[in-house]
Amino acid sequence: MNTRLSTTVSSTHEVINPSTEQVVATVPSLSVEETDAAIARAEAAFPAWRAVSPADRGRLLRRFSEVVDAHIDELAQLEVTGSGHTIGNARWEAGNVRDVLAYYAAAPERLFGKQIPVAGGLDVTFKEPFGVVSVIVPWNFPMPIAGWGFAPALAAGNVVVLKPAELTPLTAIRLGELALEAGLPEGVFTVLPGKGSIVGERFVTHPAVRKVCFTGSTEVGQRIMRGAAEQIKRVTLELGGKSANIVFADSDLEKAAASAPMSVFDNSGQDCCARSRILVQASVYDRFMELFETAVKGVVVTDPADEAAQMGPLISADHRAHVRGFVEGSADSVDVAFRGTAPTGAGWWYPPTVVIPRSTQDTVWQEEIFGPVVAVLPFDDEADAIAKANDTAYGLSGSIWTRDVGRAIRVARGVEAGNLSVNSHSSVRYATPFGGFKQSGLGRELGPDALDAFTEVKNVFFATDD
Ligand code: NAP
Ligand code: MG
Repeated sequence: MNTRLSTTVSSTHEVINPSTEQVVATVPSLSVEETDAAIARAEAAFPAWRAVSPADRGRLLRRFSEVVDAHIDELAQLEVTGSGHTIGNARWEAGNVRDVLAYYAAAPERLFGKQIPVAGGLDVTFKEPFGVVSVIVPWNFPMPIAGWGFAPALAAGNVVVLKPAELTPLTAIRLGELALEAGLPEGVFTVLPGKGSIVGERFVTHPAVRKVCFTGSTEVGQRIMRGAAEQIKRVTLELGGKSANIVFADSDLEKAAASAPMSVFDNSGQDCCARSRILVQASVYDRFMELFETAVKGVVVTDPADEAAQMGPLISADHRAHVRGFVEGSADSVDVAFRGTAPTGAGWWYPPTVVIPRSTQDTVWQEEIFGPVVAVLPFDDEADAIAKANDTAYGLSGSIWTRDVGRAIRVARGVEAGNLSVNSHSSVRYATPFGGFKQSGLGRELGPDALDAFTEVKNVFFATDD
């Protein structure tokens, strides 16, 4: 813990282990005044950070990546106890921060502008950093989502203030310490634990914060976009999803059914890319459901510290009640087709659950549940599959299972979503762009163009007349 934070904070927050319901740490919860002081320190650090040569900025980010690599196990353990992530996932997540830092460490030396042919002189563009950039992180993927914001932002020459979710601040706080250990100057990357209504809101209203990079619910995203309008503040929004997994009759049905459970139950379904709607071509629906039932019952839901765990608990008691409400408390009288298993006793467990909606208007088919609940419906033909997949306010992700290449291309072009995979469930690769259509977000993260989200284009014309 940054000593300055822990000695001056006015309030604290207890982090609870979702598997045991035990308190694992007490962390500061910053006030508006403390947030302002940290933003002022970041602002003061900007000119020197911006002046670091591209090669040296790259070197510092590479060193940060190496320090993260040396702490993968420690970071992973923190995510197991502080967020209930399975140990296998948590190691991948810490590794993702390392890899994203390494990827963007190459960016400072490749932050190219353009030279544009014009009459009477030389015209060039520069990609200028904003200054103070803020990152607001949700509780579902505390490490990767933090890294997707801070790594390219720092590479582009910005200083970063980052608010982790109040429920899951431990790994972000540790990453803030590791940045200093790697040699990043004080104030360049500051982690500010606290509430969204206090620290997060202040990022939106503070005039020195030039950009808000937000991941979370569509509702809060809308609020941030409205608030940002006051100062024409830049925003990137990564919001919810209700992604479709479309299984055609000509697909490798065994593979499609075997992989479907973890495409939605991974991270206990607390994933904006979860394939939480499965569309199966009517002619193979019964066979798919047979295979899918076996696969769902085989999902290992247990202590996330266990190497064999495929799924752990939900993040909080409140969230479990919310998830349960879609199934047990729904006004639509949801039909549960079958379920997997989950431990009983302490911990916010909920079993993998497969439901059959009565209609495409049911809340289980329309709303993001963000838990281990998947809804399945049949479709008739390609056009019906695309229409049903697009019948949602969201547009983040999705999968298409078919052996017909032409169909794969047509359906991939027809589905309104930012990240699709054919015959797999891959969504996120640090080298490729990630983001949503429609109400799933605004802007793109990751990949070669992420730097554009953290820079302003400046055009300068140099007259060549005598
Ligand atoms: P959320 O309220 O949108 O929280 C996301 C982040 O925004 C947290 O750090 C939160 O702080 C902060 N925040 C909250 N209110 C804010 C405000 N007024 N101004 C600025 N920042 C603010 O999401 P949630 O409550 O954790 O989850 C609710 C639902 O959102 C989930 O059930 C799920 O459907 C969806 N969700 C989607 C994603 C995604 O990856 N797309 C991630 C998380 C949640 P606090 O720590 O104080 O909450
Ligand atoms: Mg919230």
